[in-house]
Amino acid sequence: MKVAKFGGSSVASAEQLQKVAKIIQDDKDRKVVVVSAPGKRFSDDVKVTDLLIQLGDTYLKDEPYQGQLKVILDRFREITTELGISETIIDEIKTGVERIFASDDSVALKMDALKATGEDSLAKVLSAYLQSLGLKATYLNPQEAGILVSDTPGNAQILSESYDLLYRLRERDEIVVIPGFFGYSKTGKLVTFSRGGSDITGSIVAAGVRADLYENFTDVDSVYCVNPTIVDQPKQITSLTYKEMRELSYAGFSVFHDEALIPAFKADIPVCIKNTNNPKGMGTIIVSKKEPQPNPVVGIASDTGFISIYVSKYLMNRELGFGRKLLTILDDEDISFEHTPSGIDDISVIIRESLLTEEKEARIISRIKEELDPDTVTVERDLALIMVVGEGMDSGIGLADKATHAFTKANVSIKMMNQGSSEVSMMFGIKSNKVNESVKELYHIFFEVN
Ligand code: ASP
Repeated sequence: MKVAKFGGSSVASAEQLQKVAKIIQDDKDRKVVVVSAPGKRFSDDVKVTDLLIQLGDTYLKDEPYQGQLKVILDRFREITTELGISETIIDEIKTGVERIFASDDSVALKMDALKATGEDSLAKVLSAYLQSLGLKATYLNPQEAGILVSDTPGNAQILSESYDLLYRLRERDEIVVIPGFFGYSKTGKLVTFSRGGSDITGSIVAAGVRADLYENFTDVDSVYCVNPTIVDQPKQITSLTYKEMRELSYAGFSVFHDEALIPAFKADIPVCIKNTNNPKGMGTIIVSKKEPQPNPVVGIASDTGFISIYVSKYLMNRELGFGRKLLTILDDEDISFEHTPSGIDDISVIIRESLLTEEKEARIISRIKEELDPDTVTVERDLALIMVVGEGMDSGIGLADKATHAFTKANVSIKMMNQGSSEVSMMFGIKSNKVNESVKELYHIFFEVN
């Protein structure tokens, strides 16, 4: 049994949905299908989820929203017309949106219900289309399927009892189409996962039904070992481990949602990334263990938008609770930290710039000064993290040497290095404007030179 998840670009138009239907028809093991909302049809197109968020914002500002609603309805009308199926979904969306706006739910819950309309409607459209092709298919609402989640709008977490409920899907003798991206709280409220969360639904469902394979259909042939917008036609990764994928998706590999790995990983279900536009291609398979490879490095990832708060104090190493107090200050401002490289008398806390407002930053700095009495506190902005990832790197020899050599060749100064806490990666902090040349040199040294 396979669970097949189709991402936004795979369901963006009638033409794409025809490819999806063909993929489903081609393999009778594809019994459970999870879908995103229609994504972009061309590069400056707008995803339906973004259109729904804009619609909600307009409604909340008490401004006329009918024009925006019409754009969404037109997207679905175009799809149903071209597929030659009934247009009932258009009225369903219209009345659904009005119902959400009129409900007594909190703003956050209303927004979640609105955002989920894209996935929900598309799942109905796809199941109607599969039926029109003569397949036994049915739409299944996540509540009925058993996807129970925490009561945290926009950031749902799966509740463990969901897995047993989902197992019942195995008994169904038909193709089940489930909308991705949302579940229901125990009080029956619709709650969405974080953005891009249809991958999470797919993974949860695959774990629940104990699928043999979770196929994640997207618009690339495979995971590449480096960002193809930085290096032209980089090598494809044919297989990698969950750990490696986790590290790569943490730092910029957006092919697969990082939260989506957990359910598949725990249930040990292989995940295959495939291209809807080239389903015969090999794709990339993610598994728990793989054979040792001649090259211990599988990929190089980079992400920008980090800042570092650097604190130094003579004899910091002997001061009990220094790190705890520092992190508590961040905690109090609701800021999670990414890394804390440290020396004997210094510590840096790396955080995502997007989490910090000017006010929060000012409060944090003044509390550090008051409560920790440091010698210096400085904030460094515009940092990027580059991760060189691969299982087996911890026992390799000369890998850090190779990496630092690449930075030297790129004429880039390394601000921070971290190897050791992770068995599968080396991390480097550099200035954001130096990412491209660094990644190119790293790719060259690890993948082009033997
Ligand atoms: N449609 C949602 C989003 O754009 C979820 C997804 O596509 O996976 O975030």
